[in-house]
Amino acid sequence: MTYIVELVILFVVCDLHRITKSLLKKYGVRPSRRLGQTFLVNCNIARRIVNTLGLDCDTVLEIGGGLGALTIFLARHCRYVVSIEIDKRLSLALRERLAGFDNVDIVCTDFLLMRLFPVDYIVSNVPYSISSQLVLKLAKKPTFKSAILMFQVEFAKRLLAKPGTENYGRLSVFVNLFFKVEKLFWVNKKNFYPVPEVDSMVIRLFPLNPDFKVPLNNLERFTSYIFSQRRRVLKGVLKRLGYLEYVYGLVPEYTLAKRVFQLSPQEILVLAEYLWERGAI
Ligand code: SAH
Repeated sequence: MTYIVELVILFVVCDLHRITKSLLKKYGVRPSRRLGQTFLVNCNIARRIVNTLGLDCDTVLEIGGGLGALTIFLARHCRYVVSIEIDKRLSLALRERLAGFDNVDIVCTDFLLMRLFPVDYIVSNVPYSISSQLVLKLAKKPTFKSAILMFQVEFAKRLLAKPGTENYGRLSVFVNLFFKVEKLFWVNKKNFYPVPEVDSMVIRLFPLNPDFKVPLNNLERFTSYIFSQRRRVLKGVLKRLGYLEYVYGLVPEYTLAKRVFQLSPQEILVLAEYLWERGAI
């Protein structure tokens, strides 16, 4: 008997495509590109994402709750869920969808403006338009054990890129200094409504809680300066920026002979720390 009840519940909960469309209609929402509103409509993917969380999941913060495709599974898995949703109408729809759960708080606000608080995990099907800002925000205040984030593949590739490769850039440097980045799995674009132009990838970030000598803003600015000339040889780039005299003799010649996009995150950090200590940046 309980088995049949479970099956019925599973069917109702999992018919995400139908639920998504009917909630959008009921709340008069036309999915907004600007807000990255592409809703997950395959509950197996939602379940798979939530299963990557430890069984110790006490508190979880979801960014961009949407119509609750992930929120429902989070609510079953974790003791307490806070789901952030910027769109007022969606936050109302989300409330309706989660009505049966008393362990979920839905907050209608902009994630980029909110103050982060300690949680076990962060989970998000990340709105494309805020991907970079979201990652940088998490890097600056890593108040969580790990973050499971679904990004468009192109963006995920930038997080995973190794030095010397095409996708390697400022973002890769920054993220790899702050997190251990792990690729989890690929998600076909057909699993979303409306169907986006590209596939997605689920990534896990483990905060490294590094203790840098250089303030983040200076590190960020220095990295963006040198990456504006990514194909040039470092020595020439530093010379043009007036930085070479500060680091000459301190960094090995083979580092100076590399092109900017071949430098490892660690090499860039060391350079920035030297420059900071000498008051150059
Ligand atoms: N988690 C849902 C929805 C993903 S779509 C699912 O997987 O189906 C991304 C959601 O993030 C949208 O609901 C969008 O309205 C919301 N969003 C976009 N920008 C946001 C921001 N700055 N802060 C909070 N939510 C945001």
